[in-house]
Amino acid sequence: MARLRLVIRLFMAAMLLAMFVARPAAADDRSLPSFAPACHAATSLDQTAQAMVPRGSWTCSNDGWRAGAPVVWLRFEAQSWNDALPPRQFFSRIARFEAISFHALDTDGTMRTARFDEAAGRPFPAGPVFQLPLPEITPQTSLLLVRIEGPHSVPLLTEARITHDQSRAEWSQTNMLLLAFVVGMLVLPLLFDINFFIVLRERFVVLHAVMVGAMMVYVTFAGGLITAFVTVPVAAMAIITALSSTIGIGLSAIFLAAFLERGAQSRLMRRITIAVGYFTIIVPGFFAFQFDATQPFDDQAYLIAFLPVLVIISAAVVEALLRGSRSARFIAMAWAPVIIATIERLLRGLGWHVGPPSLDQMLYIAVGIEVVVISLAIADRFLALRRERDAALTEARMLEQLSTRDSLTGLMNRRAIEARFDQLLAQGFHTFALVDLDRFKSINDLHGHQIGDAALVACAGALRTEGDRNSIAVRLGGEEFVVLLRGERTLERAEALRQAIPQRIATEVSGLSLPVTASMGVIVLADGDRHKMAFSEFYARADALMYEAKAAGRNRLAYARLTVFNTAPKNRRKRRAADKAA
Ligand code: GH3
Ligand code: MG
Ligand code: MG
Repeated sequence: MARLRLVIRLFMAAMLLAMFVARPAAADDRSLPSFAPACHAATSLDQTAQAMVPRGSWTCSNDGWRAGAPVVWLRFEAQSWNDALPPRQFFSRIARFEAISFHALDTDGTMRTARFDEAAGRPFPAGPVFQLPLPEITPQTSLLLVRIEGPHSVPLLTEARITHDQSRAEWSQTNMLLLAFVVGMLVLPLLFDINFFIVLRERFVVLHAVMVGAMMVYVTFAGGLITAFVTVPVAAMAIITALSSTIGIGLSAIFLAAFLERGAQSRLMRRITIAVGYFTIIVPGFFAFQFDATQPFDDQAYLIAFLPVLVIISAAVVEALLRGSRSARFIAMAWAPVIIATIERLLRGLGWHVGPPSLDQMLYIAVGIEVVVISLAIADRFLALRRERDAALTEARMLEQLSTRDSLTGLMNRRAIEARFDQLLAQGFHTFALVDLDRFKSINDLHGHQIGDAALVACAGALRTEGDRNSIAVRLGGEEFVVLLRGERTLERAEALRQAIPQRIATEVSGLSLPVTASMGVIVLADGDRHKMAFSEFYARADALMYEAKAAGRNRLAYARLTVFNTAPKNRRKRRAADKAA
């Protein structure tokens, strides 16, 4: 309970911190326009800016975007910004690149050029974006050419913009607020997981915690929230974003295989799910580094390598649903939005469709939903597993009880009495009455085993004194019983029990030709408060008395009062002390 309160408090704290960080940015809501390129073109490295001035070799629509070229050019034309403040900054979505150069061309033919490498790009806290300063744009500037060397992603090209002041450009503050909210939400399942793991050492809980960790990293880096706290180089942002999503999505598959109930997945599907999980961590994980050598194809390879995991996860969830898995229903609910948003994001990344960057928010919201629903699923599973465990415990207790009872008569068995004997002795059961039915073999021989069994049950009924806390009846085996007694006049009470046996058997078992009597050998331990005697010792002595009773003609009782002098040194000392005190 206290821990839950702590969890909720930490959650609130995370949310407040997030709002606090996001608030100053949100205060300035006078947004300035930003401008998209009119055209784009892909060329070799040796293409000059001069040669790109005529409009002929450009694609002036939103089609044909590709990041694998050595150089991609963007063309910004003056008529787009003429009525606004002159642009001073370039910004775009973070991805790796070699260098970016700007060529501002005035109507009189002068060209101002500036060139920056990747390390000069400065991420800023308004999204997964970095910015670079433009060379001066004057009223005479008619054209701005942007030359991007070795770009590693399509969105770096499609989402490139120029603006007067990026801090007030459209990359919105609500975006940051949303991100902070999602990160705050991710804290909760992480703490839940820790608590669950303490109680329920299940692998899927650990996998989920690592998954949530990866998602947290993804949301903080991919959304640019991290730049609100520290300055991170463009390369690190690009790699960590790509890597955390491969790890998060790859782990989802491995988590799925561990989380689904046994029997909810075929063995083949389980193997494929785990394999595709590792594949996703390794293969897109490799392309996430965006090495120079892989620049011509790494963005495509990265995105395409994600497709198998989406297909397999969907198939595995559908299979589990068809097999009636309860966990799969939660997973389907949790992952449908993420899968849809991821596919949209992949298609946008591949340049197959161009949409506003704000579509990213869909993915963040989906991640938030995912986390809440999966946490519910884990809680649900937790309760189910605990129910299972409780049921198993009850069954074990029942078995334990069965193993202490004699199945025919329901009396305690020898095993049970031996295990508890010292304890019972200490509780004052000092009278040990051994009971053996007389000439029982002939009952079996004359009437059959079933009648014999019925007589044993009747005998047990006579010895069992319901509600009497001062006597305990036990079936030692065969037609041999023992009754332990404590309290007053134990010998008389034992004799009364013995005498009740024939009557009881006669009323309960019909058709017996002769009464079934019993003999008894009784040991009364006189000095039992201070001294212990083993069960086997009692048994041996009572059995000797039993032999006497049988020899004397049966249907009688033989007894002895015993005073035991315990020879254990510790007790001898105690005894001497007691004698002195007396
Ligand atoms: P006595 O004790 O008076 O000397 O004679 P007895 O005939 O009772 O002798 P003994 O103790 O040797 O024989 C015990 C018989 O009890 C042997 C077996 O046929 C019978 N018996 C032991 N266990 C069961 C049981 O569970 N069911 C039935 N029907 N008979 C049993
Ligand atoms: Mg016997
Ligand atoms: Mg007998």
